[in-house]
Amino acid sequence: MNLDNLKFDSLQVHAGELDDQFGSATVPIYQTSTFRFRDAEAGRRLFMGEEQGYIYTRIGNPTIRALEQAIAALEHGHDGVAFSSGMAAVNAVYLAFLAHGKHVVCSASVYGPSRTVLEKYYTQFGVEATFVHTSDLEAVRGAMRDNTALVYIETPANPTMEVTDIEAVAQIAHEYGAVLAVDNTFATPYLQNPLLLGADIVLHSVTKYINGHADIVGGIVVTKDEQTYKAVRSVMVSFGGNMDPHQAYMTLRGVKTLSLRVEKAQQNAMKIARFLEQHPKVEWVKYPGLESHPQYELIKKQMRGPGAMISFELKGGIEAGKTLMDNVKLIILAVSLGGVESLIQHPASMTHAGMSREARLKADITDGLVRLSVGIEDVDDLIADLEQALAKC
Ligand SMILES: *Cc1c(COP(=O)(O)O)cnc(C)c1O
Repeated sequence: MNLDNLKFDSLQVHAGELDDQFGSATVPIYQTSTFRFRDAEAGRRLFMGEEQGYIYTRIGNPTIRALEQAIAALEHGHDGVAFSSGMAAVNAVYLAFLAHGKHVVCSASVYGPSRTVLEKYYTQFGVEATFVHTSDLEAVRGAMRDNTALVYIETPANPTMEVTDIEAVAQIAHEYGAVLAVDNTFATPYLQNPLLLGADIVLHSVTKYINGHADIVGGIVVTKDEQTYKAVRSVMVSFGGNMDPHQAYMTLRGVKTLSLRVEKAQQNAMKIARFLEQHPKVEWVKYPGLESHPQYELIKKQMRGPGAMISFELKGGIEAGKTLMDNVKLIILAVSLGGVESLIQHPASMTHAGMSREARLKADITDGLVRLSVGIEDVDDLIADLEQALAKC
C-alpha cells in the first residue's frame, strides 16, 4: 500500500503492515532467531546483499522491520533501526559518529545516562564532550570545534523542559560538518519531527509514549538518509542491542493509538499545569503549554502541541518533595513516563540523588523539582489526587 499521502492518524495504524501469506491484519510475531535459506546460492546472495531477505534476527526480522518502517514513516525519515532499549539507541548514535579525537556537544539537561555514559565511558576512548544549555544558541556556537562530529540534543529536555531550537542548531552543526541527533522521546513524532527541521537523526526511547503502556523497554533511531542509516545499522549488527520480535509486536500495537493518547494526555496536562500554577505550595511550573515557559514562542513554532510532561518546583524543597511522593494515591510514584497511567517522581531524592547538590543545581535539578508524566485518566481525579497530597506538603 502507498502510504505517502496518508495523514498521521492513518499512518500510525497502517504503516509497517506486511503482506503475510495468510492475510493477517496485524503484523505477526516472527519468533525465530534464524531463517532457512532456499539453497546455498540463496544464502550466498543474501550475505552478498544481492537479494533482499532475512538471515538472522540480530541482523533483521520481519516484525522488527515493520516497526522500523512504521516509525520512520511517522518521523518522515529514510529508515529506522530498532534497539533493545532507548540507551542502546543512544549509544548506537554515539558509536556511529564518535571516535578517538572527536568531540561531541551535548545538551546539559538530558536524560541522565545519555550524559553520564559520555563522561564515564567515551572519555576512556579519547572522545571529548562539552555540555551546554542548548536553548542558548550562542553557547552552542561557542562550544563547537573543528573536531566536533556530533551535536546531541534533547528537546523538550528531561527533566527541566528546556527547549532547543532544532532548526537553528542544525544550521550551526552543519556549518562545522557535524551531525545533529535529537532525542524526541518527550515530544513524540505526533508533536515534533526533527528531521523536517534539519536534524540528521531522531531517536526515541519507545519505552515511553510510542509504546505507551509501560509494559516493554525499547528504542529506535530514524535517519534522514541511507548513509546515516547504514552507519547506525552497522553499529547495531556489530554491537548487538537489537530489539526482539515480541518487543516490536508490543510497540507496533502501542503506536496505533499514539495520537489519541497524546491528545488526551496533553489536554489533561494543560489543566493540571494551570491548577499547579495557582497553587500556593508551588513556586513555579514549567510546561511547554504555558505562556510563562521561557521558550513559548519557539515551542509554538517547532511543536504541534505542548505534550504531557510537567515539571514544577515545590516551595518546601526536598522534604515537600518526599511528602508529595508519599501521599499521591492515584498517580503512581515511579520513574519512566509516557504511559497511559500518570507517574510522578522527585529527581533530587530519586533519579539524581547520586549527584552532589552543587552539580545537581548546576544542571537545574533544584531541591523541590517534581516531574509529572500526565496520563489519560480523568483530569478531575488527577487534580483531586494532587490537591489532597499537596495539602500535606
Ligand atoms: C527513558 C529515556 C531514555 C532511555 O531509554 P530506555 O528505554 O530507558 O533505555 C532516553 N532518553 C529519554 C528522553 C528518556 O526519557
